[in-house]
Amino acid sequence: MTDVPATMFAWRKHRGNPEPVWEEIPVPEPGPTDVLVKMLASGVCRSDHSLLTLEKQAGWFTDKWTLGHEGCGKIIKFGSAINDTKFKIGDVVALHAVPGCNGADCPECTRDLSQICERGHHSGIGQDGFYAPYAATDIRSLALVPEGVTPAEAAVATDAVTTAYHAIHRRGEVKPHETVFLFGLGGLGFNALQILKNIGCRRIFVSDIRQERLDEAAALGIPREDLVPVGVSPTQWIEDNGHAATVDTVCDFVGTHQTFDDAQDIVRRGGKLLCIGSLDTENTIHMKTGTRKRLSYIFSYGGQVPDLEVVLKLVAEGSLRPQVEEKTLKEFPTVLKDLLDGKVKARVALVHE
Ligand SMILES: [Zn+2]
Ligand SMILES: [Zn+2]
Repeated sequence: MTDVPATMFAWRKHRGNPEPVWEEIPVPEPGPTDVLVKMLASGVCRSDHSLLTLEKQAGWFTDKWTLGHEGCGKIIKFGSAINDTKFKIGDVVALHAVPGCNGADCPECTRDLSQICERGHHSGIGQDGFYAPYAATDIRSLALVPEGVTPAEAAVATDAVTTAYHAIHRRGEVKPHETVFLFGLGGLGFNALQILKNIGCRRIFVSDIRQERLDEAAALGIPREDLVPVGVSPTQWIEDNGHAATVDTVCDFVGTHQTFDDAQDIVRRGGKLLCIGSLDTENTIHMKTGTRKRLSYIFSYGGQVPDLEVVLKLVAEGSLRPQVEEKTLKEFPTVLKDLLDGKVKARVALVHE
């Protein structure tokens, strides 16, 4: 094992303080089922801002903890109880922040809901995560990073891509014969677009309020005539272009009053509304629309390690390229500010020295 220092500097959340604290803390000792990882990259997520600023949080939140819930690193030490042969020292692994506890009596893990398990460790979500040079995490959170995938891509794959994959495949069960309308081409939505393209959906209509994002969609091969022009009402556009009653599924990666209202108007009878974004914390379900069109409202949150494994394969074979810019760990506060100001086009990963 290479020489691991006794302490390190990390970006931490202190209860009551909305600013990230650059703090010296001990390098963690891996617990019996943990691995110690030398971090290579950590993705910055919009939810880092909510985690810093919202004080009303779940019960497992500790008073001081290391931020960062999208990680990729190199295994440098195994916990005492591990005799796993799937991984070895030196392997580059993607780290899922919430692998669940896997307990035989866990109300969530026993129902295949590991991403909302309250008992397991939550890396960078109220408990120590990845904005640090080293991290300890349960071996069940690991997915091997295949050849051809950069640490930055692997880090953002753990959340931004896995969440989109889980929503579309596992929750929405979107199929090739479907016509899909996608709201939002941000950190998650652009990955969603690539996932929908991989499925081979009959047609994909796309709406975003930024022209440069629509241009990116066009560059990916989405026909210009399927992109809703900026400033045009999506409902009106669907109507005017003869697409009324053709949209089987609306994927809402935005979740504002506008997108949620439009989604209910746009979707055909018997269709699905897949809700992932939650920019507005409350939206209105139109009961008459929902019942008379016999709609399915499907919510999705996070993803699971098996989703992450599939996603990494898709990235390795080139069917999916998460857009990611690289910055350094030290730059986290500036990156977060840029993200909130809309200056980040997709995703940023902080690369560790
Ligand atoms: Zn996140
Ligand atoms: Zn659990």
